[in-house]
Amino acid sequence: MIVYHHSVVMIFIQEKVVTMSQQALSSKEKALFGKSTNPSNIEPVKLTLDSRLKFRCHPGVSCFTACCGNIKIVLTPYDILMLIRRLNMPAHEFLHTYTTPTYLEKTDMPGVALKLREEDNKCPFVTPEGCTVYTDRPTACRYYPIGMADFREGGSKDADGNEQTPDEEKFFFLVREDHCKGHEEDKIWTVGEWRADQGVDVRDDMNKKWLRLVMRRKSYGHQASLSEPAKRMFFMASTDLSHFRRFIFESSFLDTYEVDPSLIDKIRKDDVELMHFSFDYLAHTLFGAKIEGMAIKEDKLREKVAQLKKRQDEAVTSAVAEYEEMKKERG
Ligand code: SF4
Ligand code: SF4
Repeated sequence: MIVYHHSVVMIFIQEKVVTMSQQALSSKEKALFGKSTNPSNIEPVKLTLDSRLKFRCHPGVSCFTACCGNIKIVLTPYDILMLIRRLNMPAHEFLHTYTTPTYLEKTDMPGVALKLREEDNKCPFVTPEGCTVYTDRPTACRYYPIGMADFREGGSKDADGNEQTPDEEKFFFLVREDHCKGHEEDKIWTVGEWRADQGVDVRDDMNKKWLRLVMRRKSYGHQASLSEPAKRMFFMASTDLSHFRRFIFESSFLDTYEVDPSLIDKIRKDDVELMHFSFDYLAHTLFGAKIEGMAIKEDKLREKVAQLKKRQDEAVTSAVAEYEEMKKERG
């Protein structure tokens, strides 16, 4: 079993996605909760699903839409999928019009964030009447004002390279910003009720595997960098599923891999299945994880082994030739 050195914690709040090393947890907790260093006005209290919260956001609040500007909203693949369906536009057009490139979690993994309007630095979807894509708004918008910290023993792999089930410890916290008047409203919820109302649980489920890829990459630190083709593949699979579908069905992919017909059928028809498959595929290419229902074809494997052997033989032959040459030169 290979164990990576870092355990990570993922915090998903409106302004950003933060991953921290659990080894440095106490100091990170201080950085998260400490008054002087707290950039997001996070209340220094760990909440559970049963904790109570007094909050309501509605068009009648004086601050309505104040939180939809001067922010960075990183989009997950599921956010993008839902928004392109909503806007009925191809992914590449959506990416070009509404997003800006970013790196995820200070890693070298490329992603996108919403591109704020130049004239007022606000989200492109906000109007004085509110969010024009409300029922399909991104994950980060749904979280506010409840953030989640997710502690896990990430990065453990079994002999096949698959990540083992992590031990998880989650807690929640409240972000209380002066401009947000929703805290002065009377409505009381539990954190669990609030999350269900905002559709956060569904999003968490959809984003889980993708976030784990980012966390796993993060856990490597600067020990290794992703190759350019790996970065391109990660970006393509995470942002443009129609492009990824073409890669699966119109490249040499199916000549190389044996894929379960029922899996092929599912990913051909269903974008969400395709998205989950793309996460598995990325885990396979980036971290060597096994994918259930998919294996490299025997003949391709043999071809690969033969190629490697040929390269090895050539290297040995040229080393022997160099040695003989050197012997001759030295007399
Ligand atoms: S997507 Fe909607 S909720 Fe999110 S920042 Fe934009 S306008 Fe606000
Ligand atoms: S109450 Fe808070 S969440 Fe609602 S619009 Fe105002 S600032 Fe945004």
